[in-house]
This record gives sequence, C-alpha cells and structure tokens, in this order.
Amino acid sequence: MQRVKDNHILAINSGSSSLKIALFRMDKKETVDLSARVERIGLSGCHFRIKDGKGRVLFEEHQRLRDHDAAINKFLKWLQKRKTPLAAVGHRVVNGGLNYDLPELITPRMEKALIGLEPLDPDHLPQELKAIKAVRRFYPELTQVACFDTAFHRHMPDIAQWYPLPRELWREGIRRYGFHGLSYEYLIHEIKRVAGAKAARGRVIIAHLGNGASMAAIRGGKSMDTTMGFTPTGGLMMGTRSGDLDPGVILYLLREKFMPLPAVSDLVNHRSGLLGVSGISSDLRDLVAQKTKNPHALEAIELFCYQARKFVGALAGVLGGLDTLIFTAGIGENMPRIRRRICQRLDFLGIHLDPALNERNAEVISRSGSQVTVRVMKTNEELMIARHTRSLLRH
Ligand code: ADP
Repeated sequence: MQRVKDNHILAINSGSSSLKIALFRMDKKETVDLSARVERIGLSGCHFRIKDGKGRVLFEEHQRLRDHDAAINKFLKWLQKRKTPLAAVGHRVVNGGLNYDLPELITPRMEKALIGLEPLDPDHLPQELKAIKAVRRFYPELTQVACFDTAFHRHMPDIAQWYPLPRELWREGIRRYGFHGLSYEYLIHEIKRVAGAKAARGRVIIAHLGNGASMAAIRGGKSMDTTMGFTPTGGLMMGTRSGDLDPGVILYLLREKFMPLPAVSDLVNHRSGLLGVSGISSDLRDLVAQKTKNPHALEAIELFCYQARKFVGALAGVLGGLDTLIFTAGIGENMPRIRRRICQRLDFLGIHLDPALNERNAEVISRSGSQVTVRVMKTNEELMIARHTRSLLRH
C-alpha cells in the first residue's frame, strides 16, 4: 500500500441535497484547513460556501447548481487552483449492503458492487458514486476510500436486524441496516475521551437529531439496535422524512389513490416529517419561531419530541437500562427546549436534566445525582472519514 508524506485528507459527505467537505491536516491536532458546504443542490436558494480553518469565508455563491456533479466539480476546480497536495480522499457512502462492514479502498470492483447496491438507496448512492468519479477526473492517481454509514450497525444482533418477513427476504438482504454510523462511531470515541472507557463501554443511547434523525442503542461500544431501518427513511420522524409508517399506509396510497412510485417516494422522503405535519418548514428553528402563531407548527414540534421520547424508552428497554444519553447534530446540539421536551417524563429511567445547564448547551446537562448522565456533544462525520482514510493509508 502507498506511503504518503503529505497528510492532507479530503473528506466528502454527500447528502441527498447537500454536500459537506472538509480538508484535514491529519497531524496530532487533526486540524481543519478548509471546509465547504453546499445546500439545496438542484433547488432554488442553492448556497455554496468555502471557509478556511479559522472560519473566514474564502468563497461564496448563491447560484443554482444543477446537481451534485456540478457542485463537486466547482469545489474541485477551486481546490486544484490552490495546489494543495492531497494524500487521499475519503467518502461517506450511505449503504454498504451486506458485504461492507469496514472502510475500504475504492477499486473498480467496489464501484461495480456499489452500482449494484443503488436500488437500496437511490437517493444517496448515485450522488456518492458521482463524487468518486469526479475526484478521479481531477486527481486520477489519488487513493480514494469508502466509509460506510451502515458499517457501525452491520454486526447488531440478528434480532435487531430482522423484519418479521419471510426468510428468503432476509437472505436477499431485506433487513435493518441502520445509518449515521460514522456519527455514532465518532461519538463513542469522544465519550471515551471526555468521560473515560467505562462510560464508553456502558449502556449508551445516542440521539442524532438533525435534518436526518436517528437513535442508536450502544453497549460495549457496539451497536445493539437503531431506529433507522432498511433505508434512512425509517425510524423517527425527520425534517422531511416520515420515519416509521404502517406498511398499510403505502399500500393504501398505491391502491386507492393510484399514486405512482416516484410520488410515494417523494411523499415519504421529501414532503413528510416536520414539513408535512407543520405545512411550513422542515427546519425546526422556523417552527419554534412560529409555534405561538401557528398550531400546526406546535403540533409538528410535539410529535417530533413525542416520537423521540418513545424511542428513548424503547432503546433503553433493548439495553436493559441506561447510563448515558447523548444529544447531537443540529437539533440535539443547539435546541435546549427540544431536549427538555424529549426528556419530560423520562425521570422513571433515571434521566433528570438540570434546566440551567440544559439552557446553555453545557457538556453535561443532567443534574448531579441523575442516574443517567445526559450530554450534548458535537458530532463530526467528516473527521471520522478522515481518520479511517488515514488508517488505511498507513497499512
Ligand atoms: P443535516 O446535517 O442532517 O442536514 P443538521 O445536523 O445541520 O442536519 O440539523 C439541522 C436541524 O437542526 C434543523 O432542523 C435546524 O433547525 C436545527 N438547528 C437548530 N439550531 C441549529 C444551528 N445552530 N445550526 C444548525 N442547525 C440547527
């Protein structure tokens, strides 16, 4: 395997309509040299911004970008002009199917396998493959690594992966894969760093609450169960995704409303969740701003918190109790009132928040004496990608 003197690693995280990129100098400090974010790709209100490590804006544009290809091309063109030497590029790949349970070097064989997995996630995998191809066009010799969002959950107990469907569907790979794995893995390392190995090995629930939202039950540092399922549409209600539904709802839409497949997919992925229930926005901040004026905004907030609370209860059941609860991602890190609503009535599990600590997004927001330690932690999927990529280069 190649040995590289330079330690600049580019981490690329392609979402369904967004792109997050970070350039790390993988020294002891794991410094961020650049970060780029493109929002609303293919939509109006597209926003492209590149910042340096100190947060100064180096490039900004509000021009509509057709698709991910256009967004990544724009970034790579900009990067190439700076002549920053790169050691490798790591990509977040949403679904690794049955076979990928560790980060791996991207080879033509893997790319072919990933094309075969596209039906599992037609919303993300094609974008990720485009990003891999774009990097190859700009840097033909560069090592590229795939880091799978499903890998962290790949060895959950079978009972957490099973759907009560006929066996042959299980063998075909219809099962709970779970996602947000890079975020969970990063946070387990962080818990160990800030609270010690014992806490990281204990019974932990991580609530990753962003536009996409999921929770994982973790014990011994390993995933025991998670809310997302076969696709990232399942589990908790999200910004625009429905989360779990009775399968009968889909059947009804197909049978009685003659909804074509793309319309059903659009409904459950892009028109449901906070947006669908509120009829206003998928962004929880907008709903909080309107909750006194608009009862639908308040109902969407209540449903989101209710579902989150219900899943904390379910996952604590999986773990046989709880030692640590972590809130992370946009909502989890920044919205004290939402955390408070979620934790309401969870005192029976030993969860007791300290209102003042919670209000200021402190590191630990549970009150002293609370059986469960509740923490607010910043996640960093891009850094996890860069770490995996570096460790593959070292071998
Ligand atoms: P994703 O990475 O899944 O697109 P984020 O983790 O950025 O999503 O979370 C976006 C959600 O977090 C939105 O509902 C937004 O309202 C909420 N949020 C609240 N405060 C903030 C904040 N300071 N920065 C970003 N998102 C925030």
